Amino acid sequence: MNNPSRTQLFRRIPQVDQILADPGVQELVTQAGRDLVQRELTALLDAVRVAISTGELEEAQILQALETLLDRLRQRVIERMTPKLKTVINATGVILHTNLGRAPLSTAATESLGQVAGQYTNLEFDLSLGERSTRDQSISALLAEQLGCEAGTVVNNNAAAVFLILNTLACGKEVLVSRGELVEIGGSFRIPDIMQRSGGLLREVGTTNRTRRQDYEEALTPNTALILRVHPSNYRMYGFTERPTIEELCELGRRRGVPLVEDLGSGCLVDLSPYGISDEPIAQRSLAAGAALICFSGDKLLGGPQAGIIAGREDLVRALRKNPLMRMLRVDKLTYAALEATLLAYRRGTELDEIPVLRMIAAPKNLLMRRVRRLRSKLRQALPPSISVTLPAGASLVGGGACPAATLPGVLLGLSRQAGSIAELEAFLRTYAPPILARVESNELLIDLRTVLPEQENILVAGLCAGVRHVERCRTDKAAGQELTDES
Ligand SMILES: *Cc1c(COP(=O)(O)O)cnc(C)c1O
Repeated sequence: MNNPSRTQLFRRIPQVDQILADPGVQELVTQAGRDLVQRELTALLDAVRVAISTGELEEAQILQALETLLDRLRQRVIERMTPKLKTVINATGVILHTNLGRAPLSTAATESLGQVAGQYTNLEFDLSLGERSTRDQSISALLAEQLGCEAGTVVNNNAAAVFLILNTLACGKEVLVSRGELVEIGGSFRIPDIMQRSGGLLREVGTTNRTRRQDYEEALTPNTALILRVHPSNYRMYGFTERPTIEELCELGRRRGVPLVEDLGSGCLVDLSPYGISDEPIAQRSLAAGAALICFSGDKLLGGPQAGIIAGREDLVRALRKNPLMRMLRVDKLTYAALEATLLAYRRGTELDEIPVLRMIAAPKNLLMRRVRRLRSKLRQALPPSISVTLPAGASLVGGGACPAATLPGVLLGLSRQAGSIAELEAFLRTYAPPILARVESNELLIDLRTVLPEQENILVAGLCAGVRHVERCRTDKAAGQELTDES
């Protein structure tokens, strides 16, 4: 590009003040503030200047950039003002997906959150006595009643719960753990590392596949503070394996005066074996067997907010509360609100209906089948014949580091294209508003309705139709492009 036309192009760049005076831009300023709008505008204009100086864009492209300036400004400002954390449609069939925020909360829990969030609360205030109280007082009573123990408390997550227990009860002392339970849960939660950081001394007992009661017994010394039992949440061992029952270990602990602590992982409070999940330990059973303390996550099978729940003996819970670390690991009023509402569903006995993750696990196959057939016929009507819609066999997963061996009958919808890959459709859906997340297997897009809420189905159909239109249009454009190059 020669210099005179470059100078002319520079002259075409409007003044910042002139743009800010535009009524449309004024509206943006009201929404997002003058500073942000001006910053984004300056950045856009600077980019145009750079493009002119370097000659990296043709004259026509620069004129086009100036013409679309206001639209792009609006887009950028709105993008900057939109929260990055957003809701998505989970069509993966993985019920507890850690990347997708694990358990969606019940209606009662979200309502309680909404009420508590914007107002003052009695978080640490006893209204009948008119004096300060502890924040876990009410939840302690609720946990005690629901789980059948003396007391309970809540920390930020289950990793924090394990850490707090070890640090409080076993700092500088030995903790017996079976070699078969030295697990890594993911996200860098590894029992040996947590142990070391907490100050507890790991004393491994048994072997990877077989650990007996006697192994624990022989490892007990006057310096043993705890027996720690860890649920191997995310893996299972088969074949020549052995593990003492919780009753046997509790009996040993009682006889030798050493408390047994169990990290249950998921926090299953109901028997899910009628739905195909039979190897999750039930929290109440561990306490009934004599565990001194148990701990589990709030946002796995319990179906509540992220939290670490600790329950068991009153004297031990009191010791945990006194640990200065508790101040760092404690949770806020929002967690209490959501957790209390979640636990109240268990008290009512309506947890299988009310709590989304349990409802998804317990969803009867024929009901899901009805939904998937309805969806298939909607899609067959709406989509072009180049897309085939099938009902492939498959399975849903509990996920979230729980029940790796348990699969629930999957009720899947499969979409494939006669020509071309399905990856583009998957990518389109991922960036749709709201994002729709699906699985791709053997060039087929799999939609699992178990994790899709019924009220999301219409959006799902709209997203799939938009996605198919998009990929088919891209294909036609590409084909047209191909013809052009062929002709030239
Ligand atoms: C999931 C899990 C944890 C970690 O729980 P978070 O709530 O994610 O911190 C610890 N132990 C076991 C056995 C688990 O399954």
